Amino acid sequence: MEYISTRGDGESYSFKKVVMEGLARDGGLFVPQTIPDFSSRIKDLENLSYQELAVEIFQPFIGDELSKETIQKLVEKSYSTFSDDEVTPISYLDDVAVLELFHGPTLAFKDVALQFLGNLFEELIKGDNATLNILGATSGDTGSAAIYGVRGKKGISIFMLHPKGKISPFQEKQMTTVLDENVFNIAIDGTFDDGQNIIKAVFNDLDFKDKHNLGAVNSINWARVMAQIVYYFKAAFDFKKKFPQKPLVFSVPTGNFGDIYAGYLAKKMGLPIDKLILATNENDILFRTLTTGKYKIEKVFETYSPAMDIQISSNFERFLFDILGRDSAAVREKMSDLSAKKEFSLSEAQLKDAQSFFKAVRIDTKEMMSSITAYHKKGYLLDPHSAVGVSAALKAGFDNTVCLSTAHPIKFNEAVVKATGEQPALPSHIEDFSEKETKCLEVSATTEVVKALMVEKLEMLYQK
Ligand SMILES: *Cc1c(COP(=O)(O)O)cnc(C)c1O
Repeated sequence: MEYISTRGDGESYSFKKVVMEGLARDGGLFVPQTIPDFSSRIKDLENLSYQELAVEIFQPFIGDELSKETIQKLVEKSYSTFSDDEVTPISYLDDVAVLELFHGPTLAFKDVALQFLGNLFEELIKGDNATLNILGATSGDTGSAAIYGVRGKKGISIFMLHPKGKISPFQEKQMTTVLDENVFNIAIDGTFDDGQNIIKAVFNDLDFKDKHNLGAVNSINWARVMAQIVYYFKAAFDFKKKFPQKPLVFSVPTGNFGDIYAGYLAKKMGLPIDKLILATNENDILFRTLTTGKYKIEKVFETYSPAMDIQISSNFERFLFDILGRDSAAVREKMSDLSAKKEFSLSEAQLKDAQSFFKAVRIDTKEMMSSITAYHKKGYLLDPHSAVGVSAALKAGFDNTVCLSTAHPIKFNEAVVKATGEQPALPSHIEDFSEKETKCLEVSATTEVVKALMVEKLEMLYQK
């Protein structure tokens, strides 16, 4: 499969290039040149295990760059770390079906993609005897999932920035108790945005990037999107067996638009999805876009669902590329409007097109909290992100929606305790790390300091 950039001029790229580079050098995102059509194969895929299904779905996107056996091996390894045999099981409640994406090692849906990406990176650099040094900034979930994805891997290191004292104690421990020598947690004296800006500045220094083989793991990496397509198929098959007559609707708690974009691709590939509910919290840029046609950046609010506290939804550009008729000049124009005026607009027809896939629903803190309380009474504990998705499903009024549950409630226990008066229990397969040794470097929030630290640590790491 060849890939193109949403802002490119027709150049094409291999799967390997796309995975290793993350972002295109023209600033665009990589998308497959064509979307493989699975519609005639749906019946044959229905009874496959999660792992078998993953192999079938990945194959056309990877093409002949990896053998089927290699893909199988990577998939097996990636999902052996999940605590549930089904990988992403569904809990059927009385009015919704909860698709549990949090059974991976760090208890959030990001493990589904990052366990695979870590193994994929290892495979892709193996032949070249190369190294890959990952640099990222996190406000919580991505950092821990990425660290667990690459810890202990040969030829790979990871430098993960987080704002000191500004992430939940659980998330901080989850990252800093990883003592592998290839993992560098960096607490910066600043905000999450400072971290993001440092990362951008380092990646923009192309000499530095090339010299140190820098790679990214943020949600725009194509392999992450690809890995997330699988659970839409798996869940659809399970749901249709139970409810053959009901419409197939997914509700997706959305931030960077990576998770729901995978659902959109599943539909494009031929999975008969009737609607994707795009659930937002008070950070409602995508709700506003999908109701008014205007994508306009406003200030970010802090909520109990921090992974959705986002005003720029990076993966939305991939969808935009499609509704603009896959015209990269048109995407470039919208993106320059966005940087100049903090907004761009869709035409009436483009908005209609977008609305044919997505129904956007905005859920405020009060609605989210009452949803946690209500489901707790019924015997099911939702985390705040998942509760936004479930509330949105009920508000949208479809019958029996499949709601993506993106995190285990213990990760975001502050809101859960407040809504239920109860402390969620640590899942039995997760080690209690409250007393464990930690490793973390603390630095001031400047690009030069971070770069110097990386150079020093990489010299030490690869000298051995
Ligand atoms: C990352 C994340 C989301 C948002 O997913 P996007 O792909 O960014 O839209 C939702 N919930 C949780 C718990 C997350 O970690």
